[in-house]
Amino acid sequence: MGTILVTGGAGYIGSHVCLAVAEAGHDVVVVDNLVNGSATAVERVGELTGASIELHVVDVTDRAALDRALDAHDVDAAIHLAGLKSVGESMAEPLRYYDVNINAAISLIGALERHGVFRLVFSSSATVYGEPDGVPIPETARRRSINPYGRTKQLQEDLFFDVAAADPRWHIGLLRYFNPVGAHPSGRIGEDPAGTPNNLMPYLMQVAVGRRDDLTVFGDDYPTPDGTCIRDYLHVVDLADGHVAALDALDDVAGCRPWNLGTGEGYSVLEVIGAASRAIGRPVPHEVGPRRPGDVPELVADVTRAQNELGWRAERDLAAMCADHWRWQQQNPDGYRVGA
Ligand code: UDP
Repeated sequence: MGTILVTGGAGYIGSHVCLAVAEAGHDVVVVDNLVNGSATAVERVGELTGASIELHVVDVTDRAALDRALDAHDVDAAIHLAGLKSVGESMAEPLRYYDVNINAAISLIGALERHGVFRLVFSSSATVYGEPDGVPIPETARRRSINPYGRTKQLQEDLFFDVAAADPRWHIGLLRYFNPVGAHPSGRIGEDPAGTPNNLMPYLMQVAVGRRDDLTVFGDDYPTPDGTCIRDYLHVVDLADGHVAALDALDDVAGCRPWNLGTGEGYSVLEVIGAASRAIGRPVPHEVGPRRPGDVPELVADVTRAQNELGWRAERDLAAMCADHWRWQQQNPDGYRVGA
C-alpha cells in the first residue's frame, strides 16, 4: 500500500480510478486543472470510500506547481490520465492537442524523476491502432492512428518507451482503453461531458433524459451485420479495476508494457441503442445520418495479454453498462452542476 498520484483524477475515468485505487487501500492524491473535471467528483469519491482524497488544482504542464504537489506527498506511483481527449477538437486544433498532451507527459516524467518515482500507469487508447488489419486487435498490432488526438497518445507512448529504455529504474504500463461507458452503481459519479457529447453513450443518455433531441446513428452502410460500427464497450468500473491490476503488476514489468483493456466482445451502434432502451424502459429515438469522418467499421480488443499478465478481465456486461450509466444520468440530469 502506498500513495498514488492520479493526474486527471477529477474526470470521468479518473474519478472511477481514484475510487478503485482508494478501495484497494492506497492513499490517493489528485492533480487536475478542472477544465474537464469536477471537484465534486473527487468529493463524492471521498464519500463513497471514506477516504480523504486531496485535490491539487494544478495543470500538469505547470512544472513548478506539479513539483510542489509532489513535494507535499510521499508518492509511490502515478497514474496519468490528464489530457485533452476529443478527436474532432484535435482535428480543428492540432497544435493545442500536441502542446497540452505532449507537454503534460514531459512535465510529469521530469517531476516524477526529480521525486524518485519510477512507477507509472498511462491512460492510452485503442485509437492508436487506427484502422486495424483485423480484429480482435493484439497489442503487437501496428500503431497508425488516423487523427491528431490518437497521434498524441502514440507519441506519449513512444516517449515512455524511450524513457524506460534509457533508465532501468522505470516501470511503465500503457493501458489502451477501448470504449469506456457506464458509471459507478451508486449513481454518484459518472460522465459529465462539457458541451455537446461526442461519444455515443453520453449522447444517447442525454437524449433519454430529455436534454437533447434525436440521436443520430453515424452511418448504417458499414461492412458489419447491421451496417453500423462495432466497438468494444467496457464498464468504467472494470476499466478502473484494470488500473489497480496494472499497478500491482508494474514491478514485474521490465521497462514499458502495453495492455489492452476491453471485454473482447463487440457491439454495433444499433445493439447499444437496443440495450440502452431496455435499461431505460422505453425506446431511445434515433435516426440514421451520414458516416462520421474517421470512424472505422470495427474495433475489438484481444484481451489475452491483460488476462494473462494482469489477472484482470472485464466482468460487467452491456446491460450493466447501460443500467449504471442510466442511473447516473437520471440522478444527475445536469451532471455535477450546482442544483443538479
Ligand atoms: N456514434 C453514433 N452517434 C453518436 C456518437 C457516436 O452513431 O452520436 C457511433 C460512432 O460512429 C461509433 C460508435 O458510435 O461507431 C462509438 O463512437 P464513440 O464516439 O462513442 O467512440 P469511438 O469508438 O469513436 O472512440
